[in-house]
Amino acid sequence: MDKSFYYSQNSLGIYERCPKMFEYIYIDGISGKGIDPELKKNIERGTNFHILAERYFNGMKDYFYIEDDQLLEWMDVLEERYPEEIDYRTEFEIRQDRDEIRLMAKYDLLVIEEDKIKIVDFKTNKKPYNIGVMEEDIQTKVYMFLLGENLKKVFPKMKIEDISMEYFQLNYPENKIFIGYNEKKHETNKKKLKKLIGEIKKNKKIFFIKNNETCEKCGFESFCKKNLKKTS
Ligand code: SF4
Repeated sequence: MDKSFYYSQNSLGIYERCPKMFEYIYIDGISGKGIDPELKKNIERGTNFHILAERYFNGMKDYFYIEDDQLLEWMDVLEERYPEEIDYRTEFEIRQDRDEIRLMAKYDLLVIEEDKIKIVDFKTNKKPYNIGVMEEDIQTKVYMFLLGENLKKVFPKMKIEDISMEYFQLNYPENKIFIGYNEKKHETNKKKLKKLIGEIKKNKKIFFIKNNETCEKCGFESFCKKNLKKTS
């Protein structure tokens, strides 16, 4: 693995899903992206939305060249929830390498409301999320922990309790998912992330192969089957 590698919610999420998948992508450098055209289209659309949202928050509401109705619909939803006048930071990046936690995150949006700060993550998912599931999601833990650890540097007047997170589902704006934060959650997240990163470092190239339902939706299925045949 590249020495300059920083763990992120993506890489840690992949490791949690399947350590073998992590090895293929981040150690062997093999792309796991399949060629399913529908999936490809959805990924591209999600990426385009993020670009448009960043432009919107930077004062560029130039959608005249957009022909995709879905994208325009999402932009209407975004504008209604977050008008231009709010105090925000967009595509805000934090990196840290201390306490055995080398981690980075790039936040879609940070909204500053009086003495509170809210992390907003845009989701273009087709099914609505559940708050209990999202609270335990590695993205929630990485995003809140990293902001909490570096809060004094970026927002000196705020406290850990002032942080919250919203998963803003563009297809389900009424299904609001807000998650609060506190010192206790912060310490639990710190321990979890330290343990997870420590485990990856220790494992090096001996990540085992999981054999469960995650394989069915994984771009490496045929590759894994071939490798299994070779070793059995
Ligand atoms: S096919 Fe299964 S074992 Fe192989 S990388 Fe994917 S999830 Fe992991």
